[in-house]
Amino acid sequence: MRTVIQNGRIVTATDDFTGDILIEDEQITSVGAPGSFAALACEQVLDARNKYVLPGAIDVHTHMELPLPTTIASDDFETGTIAAACGGTTTILDFANQQRGRPIEQALTSWHLKADDRAVIDYGFHMTITDLENAPEEALDAMIDAGITTFKLLMAYPGTFMVDDETIYRVLRHAARLGALVMVHAENGIAIDYIVRETAASGHTEPRYHALSRPALLEGEATRRVITLATLAEAPVYIVHVTCIPALQAIAAARGEGLPVWGETCPQYLYLDASRLALPDFEGAKYVCTPPLRQPADIEALWQGLRRRELSVVSTDHAPFHWHGQKELGREDFTKIPNGLPGVEHRVMLLYKGVRAGRLTLNHFVELISTMPARLFGLFPRKGTIAPGSDADLVLFDPDKRLTISAANQHQRVDYTPYEGIEVQGAPETVLLRGRVIVRGGEYVGGKGGGQYLFRKRFSAPF
Ligand SMILES: [Zn+2]
Repeated sequence: MRTVIQNGRIVTATDDFTGDILIEDEQITSVGAPGSFAALACEQVLDARNKYVLPGAIDVHTHMELPLPTTIASDDFETGTIAAACGGTTTILDFANQQRGRPIEQALTSWHLKADDRAVIDYGFHMTITDLENAPEEALDAMIDAGITTFKLLMAYPGTFMVDDETIYRVLRHAARLGALVMVHAENGIAIDYIVRETAASGHTEPRYHALSRPALLEGEATRRVITLATLAEAPVYIVHVTCIPALQAIAAARGEGLPVWGETCPQYLYLDASRLALPDFEGAKYVCTPPLRQPADIEALWQGLRRRELSVVSTDHAPFHWHGQKELGREDFTKIPNGLPGVEHRVMLLYKGVRAGRLTLNHFVELISTMPARLFGLFPRKGTIAPGSDADLVLFDPDKRLTISAANQHQRVDYTPYEGIEVQGAPETVLLRGRVIVRGGEYVGGKGGGQYLFRKRFSAPF
């Protein structure tokens, strides 16, 4: 099968030119000036005039079908990846979570059962470690062979996900030897847990107390602490969902010293502030995520942090829960609201809004949504760029298409979107996964399944 994409404005993290792309079967085989492949017989010709052609976006932080003690995330690997595809994302990395007391291999098996044959885009897994006794060094080695080259640790949620400093240090040290990257949710879980209990006990039950009981300072403290432990362990470290000035400052300082520290943020922290949690009639629950939404000054600082490359990736932390029936579990008690927001479908267009607003260049936008995720997570150059030999994961992006984000027109399986009413100009129109058109005119046309499990390479530090 031979496909040509003609006359598109080809944009990667470093290039920007008008040209044609030749695809044979699943890979890009050549990129040339307009008309370069006109003499070839092709089964499929796509006209990309007036469109950007971008490498498929990669979302390295999703939680499809995430099981919580009281409920389960509302998107599964089918609905969630269809929504992702409609939004221009052709690869997700989801978190397989070790259950305390159970071997990590079990988590891997369980996540493969959820995703295999269901995902419509390519996917890989990180392994969340909660219990080192059941994740011995040999088991971590085995994960590398299984294509999992990233481990996640949480410094929040004592009793379920939180690990102590000993575990953090030991995993960092072993991961560095293995060539794995450790991802960390940095919040001081112990102090926060006390503040949460104290807040709830004094009768504050509304959603806004979720944000008030998780102060930015305690995200900053944990970020500094894990950077210290990583420095001692001589390990690279990646801080997930950075939300606030104290955490950003810790990362910027470390990077300023040349330490192998990377940070990601998410659209919710770039567009929404904590005042949303105070919306009346329990609407605030729609904005409960962890770490919480912060202040307008934090939002501004995060955009600056992206611009200065103190932050390297924008992912979503997609963890959708219906407002009716799921978020409502916490109507009388904010501690019972399932934490998480939907977003896998809207990341690319929301970040492109930053290009429109003059906050990011077009190349930097591609770097944040595709190229750096591929480099940091062992997928480059198969994914993350447009070059001969790369998978033909491509987005024909219409920079003029106007869209109002709404629950009424989204593909995510959830009864609301936190971005309701936000207007964007610029959205994916056609999406190819390994040479096959899976989205046309913004709608999914790819049929069932088709996503491939990605065995990822060991970590190597990008530029
Ligand atoms: Zn997460």
